Amino acid sequence: MNVQLSGCLRPFAPDAARALVRVVVVGHVDHGKSTLIGRLLHEAGGLPEGKLATLAAVSARRGMPFEWSFLLDALQTERDQGITIDTSQIRLRTPARDVVLIDAPGHAEFLRNMITGAAQADAALLLVDAAEGAREQTRRHGYLLHLLGVRQVAVVVNKMDRLGFDPDRFRAIEAEMTAALAGLGLTPAAVIPVSARTGDGVARHASATAWYRGPTVLAMLDAFLPAKAPADLALRLPVQAIYKFDHRRIIAGRLESGRIGVGDEILVMPAAKPARVRSIESWPAPAPSPAPRAATAGQSVGITLDREIFVERGHVICAAARPAAPAKRLRARVFWLDRQPLAVGGEIVARIGTASSPAVVRTIEDAVDPGLLASDGADVIEQNHVGEIGIELRQPLATDAHAADPNSGRIVLEFGGRIAGGGLVLATETADAHAPSGRRANDQAFVGTRTARMDLDADALGAKASALAPVLAALSPAERIARLRRELAGKIVFTTSFGLEDQVILHLLSQRDDDIDIVTLDTGRLFPETYALWAQTERRYGRTIRAVYPRHDDLEALVARQGIDGFRRTREARIACCNVRKVEPLERALAGARGWIAGLRAEQSAHRRDMALIGAEPDRALIKLNPLFDWTREQLLAFVSANDVPVNPLHARGFASIGCAPCTRAIAPGEPERAGRWWWEEEQKKECGLHARSS
Ligand code: SF4
Repeated sequence: MNVQLSGCLRPFAPDAARALVRVVVVGHVDHGKSTLIGRLLHEAGGLPEGKLATLAAVSARRGMPFEWSFLLDALQTERDQGITIDTSQIRLRTPARDVVLIDAPGHAEFLRNMITGAAQADAALLLVDAAEGAREQTRRHGYLLHLLGVRQVAVVVNKMDRLGFDPDRFRAIEAEMTAALAGLGLTPAAVIPVSARTGDGVARHASATAWYRGPTVLAMLDAFLPAKAPADLALRLPVQAIYKFDHRRIIAGRLESGRIGVGDEILVMPAAKPARVRSIESWPAPAPSPAPRAATAGQSVGITLDREIFVERGHVICAAARPAAPAKRLRARVFWLDRQPLAVGGEIVARIGTASSPAVVRTIEDAVDPGLLASDGADVIEQNHVGEIGIELRQPLATDAHAADPNSGRIVLEFGGRIAGGGLVLATETADAHAPSGRRANDQAFVGTRTARMDLDADALGAKASALAPVLAALSPAERIARLRRELAGKIVFTTSFGLEDQVILHLLSQRDDDIDIVTLDTGRLFPETYALWAQTERRYGRTIRAVYPRHDDLEALVARQGIDGFRRTREARIACCNVRKVEPLERALAGARGWIAGLRAEQSAHRRDMALIGAEPDRALIKLNPLFDWTREQLLAFVSANDVPVNPLHARGFASIGCAPCTRAIAPGEPERAGRWWWEEEQKKECGLHARSS
């Protein structure tokens, strides 16, 4: 449904200088989707002069009251008459954004388009009828967003006029929806009371909602964060061909993301061969103008390197500081198209970019019938169904998680010589990492999960950390982070649990573009305040905080074994819970990283005083930096207040350090800061396995 092309709407010319955000609108058809979209079009000034008056006149002639949904019906009619309108994508402008509203009438089709790359949504409006509240349909729509990885969700509570804009009714729905979405790992960016029919809450608030302090729907569209432009992602140049010209060996391909320049350090993945770009070639020779010195995403280029290394079609030229993973195993969410269901043990060919490898399906989880938007519990994926698969590749392929790079994180599956499916890469494991968890039952196995590293040995790591320690000690926290970035080639991960320290570090990171991956571990047991702060922080700093979740099957096995609150009973049960919810996800978050930034401070506990500003972690093959290690709590609070850093409201209620809700408490005056964390019976247990191995 693309409305900008018809005579019905004003022509829409996207403005390259303005961010484009794509927002899917989901909700039961009777909950007022068409009315809301029609009203938004009007409020955003997207209708041509006189269109509204014409429709109102037609309604009057027929003796019917005017409805905003008639606008979409009119568009649909024009389409049915052969006028070029795609009414599933409606474009409008807010003050800061160009917005594409994606109406998703058929979930199966939309799901397939999203998963195979034909459609993308950066955010969602989830519509709920104020009288009906959350229903089975609502849960399914939330599930749809969860499947698609759409994390920016605003709930629009419609038809509030029919309930006299009753604040109590609204708050009840707000609580109900927040809880329903939390179960899917989603936190609403806002819950907005509206009447799409009267326009209240759509572009402006009426006096009837004076009790509401949040954004209107239009303001929310303006606040959603757009996806990163391909040019702003790390360099990925899949090699299409190698040509020999005179003495030159020219590597040709299309720059899928990032930028490349003469002199840049690159790695050819998956073999991780280093080189520098010697030249960027152009045809025909550009004389008398000089040869290009740089190229950006979307351009097809030919490059030469400064040394002879083996490169062939299927390899990927990557930024040396942020290479793709050389995946030997990967987990993907796929849409299966073939008549023969996909089963464990199935032999397929996996294609990523210009590379391919034979592969075997090792696990199948969460097979879903997209029509029902509910797991069908099957261990095969039927035709036109969605599921998560773990596959083992015969040869490693260079790839990224789709959340990090939508282009290089997309996979195509061949079966019996034909294209049989496609999907999103969720996670990768490299050459000698342990196999994906599948149906593992032993929690202790997670502690040992490690990613293969190619070039860092324990001695070199230790020497590097020791050399850096005195240098960093004299620097400010921001300078320490910047220095680590300069010293380490490869991925650096900052793990946040949204504590005071983490928020200060996030503020520092947001002041620079240091190419550091920001990650949080969502244990599923966090405080509602923490989820709210997460969304607030992303909005404030315009950064995406990548979530790593416990593996679904491991969590199911844990809860089946010891119950949802089993960790309360024994020390072993607590270790098991932490291993599934925290330790294994942390190892995945750090997979492939050379640096780890965390918010530890010496002052927090006696145990932490024995740790260090910087140290090597040989078994994780990385260097860990705690840039605030020598800061006091007073310094933190002064920084937060001077820079207006958003912090968790629980701090004001006596919580010093904040983790899982059932295992955290406020501390009494005089208690050490970590006294309120985890199971507070013994000092060494408070580290929960996450930081215990830090040097
Ligand atoms: Fe489980 Fe508590 Fe550990 Fe969280 S802190 S993972 S709830 S034992």
